[in-house]
Amino acid sequence: MGAEMQAKLARALTSMLPGEEQQDELGKVCAWLHENRAAAPLCIFVETVEQAPVAISITDASANIIYVNAAFTRVTGYLPEECLGRNESMLSDKRTPPQVYQDLWRTLLARKSWRGTLINRHKNGQCYLAELTIAPMLEEDGSVSHYIGMHRDVTTVYGLEQKVKNQKALIETVVDSIPVAAVLLDDVDQVVLDNQRYKAMASDLGLREPVRDFLRLLRVEMGPEWDRLRDQRRGFQHRELRYDLGGGRPARWFSCAGNWFEEGDVAVDAYFNQRRKRYLLLALTEITQQKRQQEEIRLSALRVLTAEEEKVQSLRETLSAAIHHVQGPMNQLAAAAGLLARRGDAGSTALADTLQQVVDTSRQTIETLQRCMPEPLGRGRTAVNLNQLVHEAILLTRDRLLASGVVVDWRPAPVLPSFVGDENRLRSVFKQLIENAVDAMNDAHVVNRELRLVTWQEGDLLHATVADTGPGIPEALQIKVFEPFYTTKGATGRQAGMGLAVVQDVVARHDGLIVIDPEYRDGCRFHLQFPLSRD
Ligand code: FAD
Repeated sequence: MGAEMQAKLARALTSMLPGEEQQDELGKVCAWLHENRAAAPLCIFVETVEQAPVAISITDASANIIYVNAAFTRVTGYLPEECLGRNESMLSDKRTPPQVYQDLWRTLLARKSWRGTLINRHKNGQCYLAELTIAPMLEEDGSVSHYIGMHRDVTTVYGLEQKVKNQKALIETVVDSIPVAAVLLDDVDQVVLDNQRYKAMASDLGLREPVRDFLRLLRVEMGPEWDRLRDQRRGFQHRELRYDLGGGRPARWFSCAGNWFEEGDVAVDAYFNQRRKRYLLLALTEITQQKRQQEEIRLSALRVLTAEEEKVQSLRETLSAAIHHVQGPMNQLAAAAGLLARRGDAGSTALADTLQQVVDTSRQTIETLQRCMPEPLGRGRTAVNLNQLVHEAILLTRDRLLASGVVVDWRPAPVLPSFVGDENRLRSVFKQLIENAVDAMNDAHVVNRELRLVTWQEGDLLHATVADTGPGIPEALQIKVFEPFYTTKGATGRQAGMGLAVVQDVVARHDGLIVIDPEYRDGCRFHLQFPLSRD
């Protein structure tokens, strides 16, 4: 190779240099030859071309071979003496579409380098895929004197790529044929794969990636168990989730199953430092229909239970009122008896004794009444969902709401974690608040009767508001209304003034808080909050 040839070769290599992302051995050879074209002695230059790991050939302007390196013989099977003087087309398998060659030559004739893949035939008759780069070697005047071609056998790589593609297609088909919505997520919760059922579910829910909400809910619901199962690569099944869409749409229920698995990270930076990548396959089955049927049955049972609770509550209120009414005069008599006893004269002492007997009898009466007081009905503490409780309270008061022409605007948080509580007593809290609201709007003959119920989560607190369009409660009374026996409606029947006192008691027993929003001007709005405990 003469110095002039070396210079032309260097120019040709410049045009061949692939971009950063294509820096394979082809590129590296080009880059080395190009960088060292001036500094390296000619023999090193020649030796590099000769020993390069890619098949290199140099042709004249008609593609007749004038030089091949050692790798060319390894890749094609032809010794130099078997190919020198012959056209490069000797390598063609003739199964490469003619358009590819037309494009190749159009590019070369425009004095540009060409890069592409051809089907070549090895000397032994076997086909192989050649990833080929050809560059023209130009004279000073710009005419083509030679071409340099570099190619490598990419049959194995192509085969592997195809295998991966086929396997992906196979997995996609399998996932698609799963009769439930299925999503594959990577370790940063990105959807890697999903199926038609999942897509249909997403469009039905009107959400782009509903799995994000499901994940959030599952993590909150499962707490530390989520991390434990993930770390041990154990799956979970039959996790029922309630999904509230809001906007007056009914809640939907899903049963979730999940399985974690790992694979070796294929990123280049993991070559020397093998990492595992974790995936989660989540299967979601809609069980709303079954849940609705269960709900109907549950609701009938709840109605019976609520009627029973109301009886107990009304008895408790009557007895409390009786105790309250005996307690006041009794305290006054006890004070009078004490006063008379301190005077010490005979008449006063006799009267004090009589009064004391009355006080003692009253005390016994109070004790008897207290013993008769039935315990409030409750089923103990379980995991409860605030949305579910509010929803059931609305259903239980549905007839009254309809009869009073109240429009219910129910805005549940789409995703709300459960907390620990007494579901019967908590449900009766919302039922009481709804009934109070209906009473207030009825009594004040309000025309636009609207009840708005909202739930949301803020950190570790669950919030709910119950707002009506009634006359509201004056600010001065906003604390007093929670006192036992305070009522604005006369002390008869279920309006003995114990409703809000009981509500406050139940909320307090759940470490919660209930207040009347002083800022609310369109009626009355109760704001409740509960800590998200997971005992
Ligand atoms: P051909 O009759 O050779 O040509 C097919 C088409 O290319 C026609 O449209 C024809 O007009 C056009 N064409 C052919 N030669 C020229 C030319 N000199 N100038 C302008 N147009 C032309 N092919 C392979 O299959 N495998 C290889 O590994 C390979 N390596 C090559 C390396 C170099 C450096 C060069 C310059 C070419 C290489 N070729 C290779 C292309 C090869 O020369 C043939 O063009 C190709 O194999 C098609 O051969 P063919 O006999 O089927 O058709």
